[in-house]
Order: sequence, then C-alpha cells, then structure tokens
Amino acid sequence: MNNIIYLDNNATTKIDSDVLEVMLPYLKEDYGNPSSIYSFGKSVKDKITDARRNVAKLINAKEDEIIFTSCASESNVTAIMSATKEYPDKRHIITTSVEHASIMETMKYLENNGYRITYLEVDSNGKLNLDELKKSITSDTLLIAVQMANNEIGNIYPIEEIGKIAKDNNILFHTDSVQAVGKIKIDVEKLNINTLSISGHKIHAPKGIGVLYVKSNTPYHQLIFGHQEKNRRGGTENVPYIIGLGKAVEKILLDDYKESKRLQLLRDKLEQEILNNIDDVVIYGDKENRMPSTTSIAFKGVSAEVLMLRLEAFGIYVSTGSACNSEIAEPSHVLTSLKADLENYSPIRISLSKYTTEEDIDTFIKSLINIINMIRK
Ligand code: PLP
Repeated sequence: MNNIIYLDNNATTKIDSDVLEVMLPYLKEDYGNPSSIYSFGKSVKDKITDARRNVAKLINAKEDEIIFTSCASESNVTAIMSATKEYPDKRHIITTSVEHASIMETMKYLENNGYRITYLEVDSNGKLNLDELKKSITSDTLLIAVQMANNEIGNIYPIEEIGKIAKDNNILFHTDSVQAVGKIKIDVEKLNINTLSISGHKIHAPKGIGVLYVKSNTPYHQLIFGHQEKNRRGGTENVPYIIGLGKAVEKILLDDYKESKRLQLLRDKLEQEILNNIDDVVIYGDKENRMPSTTSIAFKGVSAEVLMLRLEAFGIYVSTGSACNSEIAEPSHVLTSLKADLENYSPIRISLSKYTTEEDIDTFIKSLINIINMIRK
C-alpha cells in the first residue's frame, strides 16, 4: 500500500528493511539447524548468540537470562504459570486492571482454579496507588505482575518502586515491557525484576518472535518441554526471526534513544496543535509519565469508530483501542478502568514510530480538523 499514514504503531510496526535483509539468508540458503554440530548448523547458532547478546545488552541482562519465545503473550503466560508451578502453596497474585489480555486471561484462568487475584484499580488518569499495592500483600502472595507501559493510554508505571516492594516482601515480580522496550531505557538490575517480556513486532522486527527475561536464580518451570534455550523452552529456534530481532535491537542500541526524543517532540506538537484548533478535547493518561509515542485523545460528541473510519478514507490509520480487543464492540477494559465519560469522549489512539515524519503529523492534523468540523456540524 502506498501513501498511507500509519499511526497505529502500538498495534504493530513496519519491519525495518535492514531487519528483513539479515533474515532472508536464513529463510533461503542458510537453513541449518542451530543444534547440529557441523559447521552449517554452528554458524547459525553463532548468529543466535549475537542476537541474544544484543537483547541482553538492551535491558542490561546477562545473555543466559534471555529466552527466545514465539511472542510476548507466550512470555507473559510462561512467567505467570512458571511462578505458580514453582510455589504451589502460594495462592495469591497481585496485578492491575489495565494489563494486556495475555495477562488478564491467565489471571482469569487461575481464578477459576482456586487462586485469589487482586486487580489494582487505577485513577481517572490511569495511575496506580502504591499504598493499595502494599496493603494487598499477604503472606500468601506469590507474584506481582504490573506492566511497564500501557498500550492504550501510554502510561509508564513506577516499576523501580514496585520492584523494591516485591523484593522487600520476598515476592516474585513480572513486568510486561512490550510497549516500553526500545523507547525508554530499561535496566533489569536496577529494577529488581524477576521476569520481563518483549515482543519483536513492536520494535520493527516481525510478528511471532518474543523474549522472556528470567533473572538468574529465579525459580523457573519449563512449560514447553524440549532441550532448546538451555532446557527452558523446547522447539527448534525460529532462526530468521531471532536474527531479525537481534538486528532491530542493534539499531535501537546504535540510536541510543535519540529517536524517542524526536517522537516526544512530534507527539507534543500533535497534541498542542489539536488543542489549539479543536474545542472540547480530552487527552487520557498520565501527562507526566507517558510513553513519548502515544496519545489517547477524544473529541466531545465524536464517536471514535466514526472518526477512525473517516480518517481511513484519507489513508490515515489510527485505532480506537488495543488491536487485540478491536473485534469486541465494548470499550476496552483499560478505558473502562479510567471510569471516563466514554459516551461523550471516546478516544482514538495515535501511536508513532521511527517512520512517522513531521509531514505525516501535519497532514493528519489538517485532515482531523476538517473531519471533526464536518462531524460536529
Ligand atoms: N503486552 C502488551 C502491552 C502488548 O501491547 C502486546 C501486543 O499488543 C502484547 C503484550 C502481546 O505481544 P505479542 O503480540 O507478541 O503476543
């Protein structure tokens, strides 16, 4: 598709052409199995090691703390289920009401199987109350699972403080860092995280590759049996995708978060122009601690679905919630958690990437102003 303006990068991102280029040989001539001991397999294994080193460096982990998975959903489910298998006597988990479906659904499953789950509420800006977190801890608490950044409103949660609370109380701590990784610096050593998940397709690698970080000495229970990934996740490695992910991460390391600063300026300009030109606007989320690339914005009396479709007619793509929930007609669990006036202010989500240009944003703003004026007339 040509000439589209893609502003839904929290749903997925375009594969970087350098990523695609390093993957192709491993889909064609270099098809060796990394477990083979002859050189045709060994050279592939070396490439996987390089990718693992890059991912480890990105979050300040050790190489053997990185497990490649099929996606971040798998990483999230594995981290939680592993904790339950390792500590079968502890039956209480603390999470939030704004986690990704892969966490929410795992919690529901556990609830149906005798676990007690505390879903921490958020305020109207999506912020968590850490006193509530502390109060909900019991001697039976096994795990705290709180995302690093929210996919819909972009809030960044206080992971360092939560990590400290978990450590002081001898509780495992999992964080879903899918939306944060590559955009904000992550140092797993400093943050006291036991397990963390990453997804390739949010950082310009393909869909179908993920990472689970498991801190050394964290009890771990293998769910997919087999010998790969040091007996932690069976299945022949997805070689091209792992190598692609390694390249995507290498590019983030080279950029050293300059891109995040550009995105923040662009996102702030976008919000300011909207506020200057359109009345009755609400921006959801925590204004101080928000991802530089995300805005969730609503226009009084304008349905997000109608707006999204009108924008699509101009070749502009935004979303009305998370991609995972867009088939469900109801407002997402994140927006409902904010207890916002969704009847009057239903938001569209605009999320930028390194491929978003200033021209894209200018065109978007112009189209948006026209469309809102037309709808409100
Ligand atoms: N966690 C968050 C916060 C996400 O936004 C997503 C994807 O939308 C996932 C997890 C799942 O990632 P994957 O598609 O790799 O399973």
